[in-house]
Amino acid sequence: MQGDIAANIAHIQDEVAKMCAHADVPLNEPRLIAVSKVQPKERVVAALEAGQRVFGENRVQEAEERWGELKPLYPGVELHLIGGLQTNKAAKAVELFDCIQSVDRPKLARALAAEMDKQDRHLPIYLQVNTGREEQKGGCLVEDLPALLETCKELGLKVVGLMCIPPVGDDPSLHFALLRKLGRQYGLERLSMGMSGDYALAASMGATDIRVGTGIFGERDYG
Ligand SMILES: *Cc1c(COP(=O)(O)O)cnc(C)c1O
Repeated sequence: MQGDIAANIAHIQDEVAKMCAHADVPLNEPRLIAVSKVQPKERVVAALEAGQRVFGENRVQEAEERWGELKPLYPGVELHLIGGLQTNKAAKAVELFDCIQSVDRPKLARALAAEMDKQDRHLPIYLQVNTGREEQKGGCLVEDLPALLETCKELGLKVVGLMCIPPVGDDPSLHFALLRKLGRQYGLERLSMGMSGDYALAASMGATDIRVGTGIFGERDYG
């Protein structure tokens, strides 16, 4: 198993490197975020042993259970929250994570800013954009982005980029192109886009972060 995970990581990095090297415009290779949600501990340890240090989780409580133990054992681990966050979990999230990619509303921005001030832990954040306008999905609508950005600026939050999760069944390239356009428009350098099924495409379209779960660890067993 451990060998498989190391090989999967190497394969993804290789593919992305090739994609970027052959692009028409100069592209930097995106950072690989290993999405460890729901995965058994031994698989996560295998990724750590293979040298992977950047991980994504989508639930605060689950991340706390896993990483409270593992983070101190592996110096340099960087945790990204990539799932929806309730304001009442903002304190825990600021304590545990190193970056929050799912900021999508003013109320959450305010709760996070207050916590970051209180803990004196000023994390970089991404704004999640609901590019597919899906009701059940997190993320702010494109037309609400300027106001959310303004609020974040007033609060002193460090907005470094944008994140999106394209709707299942849609051509992801439309969503990646929209996110890239918004990033340029608002002067945000980082773009978190692309998952197991489309990370190479995302890399070719300017992703700075790809979030890969099953492509590294195998299927998630929700039991
Ligand atoms: C689970 C998840 C991923 C990883 O999905 P895979 O298809 O397993 O690569 C990426 N981003 C977010 C926001 C997720 O919740």
